[in-house]
Amino acid sequence: MSTRIAFVASEAVPFAKTGGLADVVGALPQHLSSLGYDVVTIMPRYRGIRCESQQDLRGDDHGPVRLCHSGNAVFVDYPDYFDREGLYGTPQGDYPDNAERFILFCKAALEAIKIQGCKLAHCHDWQSGLVPLYLRERGSSTRSVFTIHNLGYQGLFPAEKFRLLGIPERHFGPEGIEFYGQMNFLKAGIVYSDRVTTVSESYAREIQTPEQGFGLDGVLRRKSHGVLGILNGIDYREWDPARDRFLTAPYSTPEGKLPNKKALCAAFRLSAAAPLCGMVTRIASQKGFDILIPAIERLVGLGYSLLILGFGEAAYHEQLQALAKRLPGKIGLALKFDNRLAHQIYAGSDFFLMPSRYEPCGLGQLISFRYATVPVVFKIGGLADTVSDVDQDPDNGRGIVFGEYRTAALEAALVRARALYDDHDRLTLVRRRIAGLDYSWGRSAARYAQLYAQLLSEQHGG
Ligand code: ADP
Repeated sequence: MSTRIAFVASEAVPFAKTGGLADVVGALPQHLSSLGYDVVTIMPRYRGIRCESQQDLRGDDHGPVRLCHSGNAVFVDYPDYFDREGLYGTPQGDYPDNAERFILFCKAALEAIKIQGCKLAHCHDWQSGLVPLYLRERGSSTRSVFTIHNLGYQGLFPAEKFRLLGIPERHFGPEGIEFYGQMNFLKAGIVYSDRVTTVSESYAREIQTPEQGFGLDGVLRRKSHGVLGILNGIDYREWDPARDRFLTAPYSTPEGKLPNKKALCAAFRLSAAAPLCGMVTRIASQKGFDILIPAIERLVGLGYSLLILGFGEAAYHEQLQALAKRLPGKIGLALKFDNRLAHQIYAGSDFFLMPSRYEPCGLGQLISFRYATVPVVFKIGGLADTVSDVDQDPDNGRGIVFGEYRTAALEAALVRARALYDDHDRLTLVRRRIAGLDYSWGRSAARYAQLYAQLLSEQHGG
């Protein structure tokens, strides 16, 4: 008999995605089912999501909120809040009613957890952070795990909105949801959950330091069970160069990359003879644009072309557009979210750039490995845990790693990448090595299953 648990999250493949959270929430449940857990995924019903059946929520607290279903997913249906163009906002900024949106989401998720009889709620990131609080406040026997996918996004809202939660005033304090006079939904998830995890071991350590703790390092250090780091996997069915429906020419050896590169370069009017650096990314300061943008001229000077697929902050969009204009034939830009093109870039690029300032796990480098594309990364978080440098460790290295968050260090990494590209035999060796790595979900799913089992066997409050 399997145990029913809930995943509460704001995005999941195949329904809605802005980043890696959706990949994780989409893939992990399938792997947990063979380990004895029947996962119900609870998320908002965004624009375009189709449902098979629906159910009204009782209780005047909820107004016209509905739950609707599709397979193992339950959607919180409230069109005023969720039937919108974006998930959280626009390139100009967040939606002004995000507090109201995700309070309503969490309250409805709680009802869904009850209706579905879930023994444990695994909540992901700030949008679900109120669920552990409500479970605790109501004395529920449902256990909770809270996973931090990104500490940089906390769901901070003015204190005046606290009354919308409908819980006693005592929760608005330093031991509760309060954070420097504001409400912090991520902090609620950390404080009230039974266990906190994050998505790599390095990140678990880093977020407990003042430098990278975004003000929550103390709260994390005080968690009695600590912060468990479990590395994300990727879905090997979705990310499989041999069977990828989006590729011009699916391939099973690194030599097969070339026709894909040619097609990609032709589409963006780039020279297929030049080494190609690809990026698939949210366009946010976290992703290293402040050190990348000043390095682009040097990158082009080294003979590379650059192809960026990304969407996010308007100011970076504009700077990239200006550079693309100034360097015609060298830079391809697609400022949008496009899953098909993402697959084509992972396959067709020679190098995959991730100069992230911080990176909880990072899926881009893991997907690149699978497509025999050499990652160029800053040594931080999950990138440090998964990419070792080919010059420092010629026998096992998996990419080009730089250790200082500066434009000059990124440029020096690009010089070394160029040398690797020019050494055909060494490049082939590295490509074969990384394509053979295994970052499928098996091992990590087993660690989550172990955590759930432990938690469910404890007396409540343990
Ligand atoms: P983060 O979660 O911080 O955005 P990750 O590296 O963990 O970064 O995961 C990013 C995921 O989102 C990857 O699957 C990547 O391919 C995808 N992605 C990011 N931006 C885009 C985009 N503009 N179009 C298509 N896929 C994207």
